[in-house]
Amino acid sequence: MLQSQPHSVEKKCPRCGQVFGCVVQDNCWCDENINLSRETLKLIRLNYLDCLCKECLLFFMELEKHGGRAA
Ligand SMILES: [Zn+2]
Ligand SMILES: [Zn+2]
Repeated sequence: MLQSQPHSVEKKCPRCGQVFGCVVQDNCWCDENINLSRETLKLIRLNYLDCLCKECLLFFMELEKHGGRAA
């Protein structure tokens, strides 16, 4: 069976230090319910080596909504 099941890995958010479950997939980042623009994802990858927790992803999503730019 080649189909791999998504499995959750415990990671520590590099932004806030919170431990969260990352669902490891090809381009995890990180929750499929969170739709971030490519631009934002790029920004996150530039700033953080690993996935961010949901709260931080939501934070970036809010920034997008308000048309703001994360510094
Ligand atoms: Zn992840
Ligand atoms: Zn976080």
